[in-house]
Formats: sequence, C-alpha cells, structure tokens
Amino acid sequence: MGSNIIVSKFGGFSMATADMIRKTADILHANPQRRYVVVSAPGSRGPEDMKMTDLLFILNSRYMNRENFNDMLSRIQERFTEIVQGLGIGFDVEKEILELKKNLFFGKGNDYVVSRGEYIMAKIYAEYIGWPLVDASKIVFFGKDGQLDQAKTFSEASKILQGMENAVIPGFYGSSGPNTIKLFPRGGGDTTAAVVARAVEADICEKWSETTKIYSADPSIVDNPAVIRNITYEELKQLSYMGIRVFSEDVIYLMQGIGIPIKIRNINDINDEGTNVTQELPPELHRNVAACIAGKRNYRIIHIQKFGLNRLTGIGQKVFGIFTERNIACEHYMSGIYRFSIVVKNPLFDLKRAEIFQALKDAINPEEITLEKNLSLITVVGKGMGTVKGIFAKIFNAIANAGVKVKMIEQGSDDLNIIIGVYDEDFETTVRALYGAMILS
Ligand code: ASP
Repeated sequence: MGSNIIVSKFGGFSMATADMIRKTADILHANPQRRYVVVSAPGSRGPEDMKMTDLLFILNSRYMNRENFNDMLSRIQERFTEIVQGLGIGFDVEKEILELKKNLFFGKGNDYVVSRGEYIMAKIYAEYIGWPLVDASKIVFFGKDGQLDQAKTFSEASKILQGMENAVIPGFYGSSGPNTIKLFPRGGGDTTAAVVARAVEADICEKWSETTKIYSADPSIVDNPAVIRNITYEELKQLSYMGIRVFSEDVIYLMQGIGIPIKIRNINDINDEGTNVTQELPPELHRNVAACIAGKRNYRIIHIQKFGLNRLTGIGQKVFGIFTERNIACEHYMSGIYRFSIVVKNPLFDLKRAEIFQALKDAINPEEITLEKNLSLITVVGKGMGTVKGIFAKIFNAIANAGVKVKMIEQGSDDLNIIIGVYDEDFETTVRALYGAMILS
C-alpha cells in the first residue's frame, strides 16, 4: 500500500494503570508512522479486579432496576482518577462522571452508559499524549439493521481522519442515529481499529494486548509447540471456530480482501515480533504442511439409518429443518448410501434429544437412529493444504501409528482444513500425533 501509516490498538490491559499507559505512549512515540490510536476502557488490574466495561454494565442495570448504584459510580470515578493522578495530568474526571450521571437519568440507555468507558479513557489518553480526540460516534455508523453501515462509516471516517496528522479514537462503539450510541459486541475495540485502518488506508494495523503467543498447538497438550508467526485471515477464521479467538469475525470480515495486515503484538514483550495476519502468506515462507492443530471435545453424532436413503429427495432439508427449528446448529454432516449423520455440540441438543428423535422418526421413518457421544473434532489448518499430495495418507498414518480409531473425516471445500473426529479419550494423543506429522515433519 505504501501509506506508511500504522494504526495501533491498545486493549483494556494496556489501559488498566498509569504505568501501562505510559508504556503505550512510549510505543507510539517510538515510531512516527504510528499516527492513529484506538483505545479500550481500562481493563482489570488483576484477577480480583473488574473491567471498567463490566462496572458500567452493572451501573446501568442497577439504575434500571432502581437499585442503589452510587457505589458503582464511585468505583468508576476512582478508577479514572487513579489513572489521571498516576499520569500527572489535570483532567477533570468529576465533570465526566457528572455528565454520565445526568445522561443515566435522561435514560440514554445501556450502550451509551457502557461506551463511556472507552470515551472517557480516550479523552484522558488524548490529553496525556497531546493528540486530538475523534469521537467514535462521528466516524462509526450502524444501519437500521444493527450492522455496521460500511458505506457511511468509511466515507465519514476517511474524510475526517485522513485530514489529521494524529488522532485518538475510542473503540467499541459508534452511532446508530442522532444522539444514539450503539456498542459492537464485546471485544469490539478491535473492530474499531479495523475500521480506522481501512479508512486511513494504513499499511499495518497493530493489536497490542497481553495475549501470549499464538501457538501451532495447545501448549498444555504438546511440549513447546511452534509459535505461529504468519497466518492468513482465512486460517484464523478456522481457528476461531475451534475456540482460538484472536479477534472477532467482524474484524476478519472487514480486513479480508483489503490487503492490510494485522500485527498481533504483546505489550508485555515489546521486542517480540508478534504474529502477522495477512491475506496471503509471504512467498518466502516455508511451512511444514499445516499452520496449526486445534480441536474441541464433547460433540455428538446422530446417525440416521434407512434403506434407500440415497434415493430419497429432501432428506437433508428435513433433517436440518428439525435442528434449525430448535436453534441447534448442525456443525457438520456426512451422508453415506443408507446413512445420514449430523454432528452437533450445542447443550440444547441433550435437553431436546427425545423430541428431536421423535421429529426425525415422524419425518423420515428411519430404521434406526443412533447417538454417539464424547466425540472430539480436531482440525488441521493450513492454506492450500488440501491440494498437497498424499495429505490423507500422512494424516491416517500418524493417527494409526498412535493407535487411534478415526470416527469421521471431513475436508473443507476451501482446501484450508481437514477435520478429524475421534473419541474424546483419544483427543490428546491425536493432537500430538498430528502435530508431529503435520507441523514438525
Ligand atoms: N471494553 C470492551 C470490552 O471489554 C471492548 C474492548 O475492550 O475491545 O469488551
């Protein structure tokens, strides 16, 4: 892109204390390309502490339930005051808290109240580093459907931000109408950073947090797994399905196809180069088949057996409909000649099992419906992996040598991942075997 602009996002951990905030300012000042910064509300200072965002959620719910909320308001004020005093600036916290209280009484609503965590923090931060503040409500817009209005957002955000040398932007919220604030889902400060990066056509969007490294396998299962230094947006999507959530899918959706990489950096280890999330992998990168092995336990498979099933039409539609009506996602399915199998994880399934089985009997009249529990799904993720010759042989050999029985196998149509189902008791053995075969060798 060549704009030489870096957008930096500092999460709640980095905003939790004055000391951490000083550290973030040093990071900003170390590179003049860091011209725009998105900040979160102060996070927790330790295991016993609460995040500012949670305090604000409680504040609003106490007010709505006509409970005493004064202690919450005092805690919020004290936290900001501690930060302001620690930074040694003359910011008027009391004025902000009075404004918040006034608007609480005006019934501005939950999203407004909660957004004040990032808003006040960004105002303090802007004063501390001497950069102008751009309120997110002026550059992030939601449509009537509650989704980000991309056209309006990018047009306004680029108009305002591109004319500025530097800016501090509060994360996590935007405007959904005149004087109406709306929040992104939790962790949404990253989405704001993605919006800003796109609007200013940044070269890099950096996410600074306390997150330790992204490993190529769970370190509690595999000894010293390799750290992932480069991963694509598509691969990251697969990992987030398996519970490794680096940032929300909204961010991936906004950044994919744009060509702006996200660099994930660790505020506790600023010399560590971090992980690059990009559209394509760098051509010089040599990767041993896959990027990562990840998995989850506790799935169920429902097998529906019926002679002549292959000749019937609309079976999938009927089966999926029965699950959909009950709000249970069919995460995977397999169809054999006389068998149709569905993989689910939602605990709702256990509650509604009898009802679902009855509905399946009524709709399909199968010879048999069987249920297998305690199934783990393990995914081997790597862009282009599905096109590698002999990949299945490699996987099956590794698993067979480990003495594990495979219950299912599924190759994503996008050549990005292969999912293997094994019994929960074989989960760890399988992860280790696949790590050895697909990442190490
Ligand atoms: N403060 C918000 C949260 O705790 C948003 C964020 O930090 O990204 O979820």
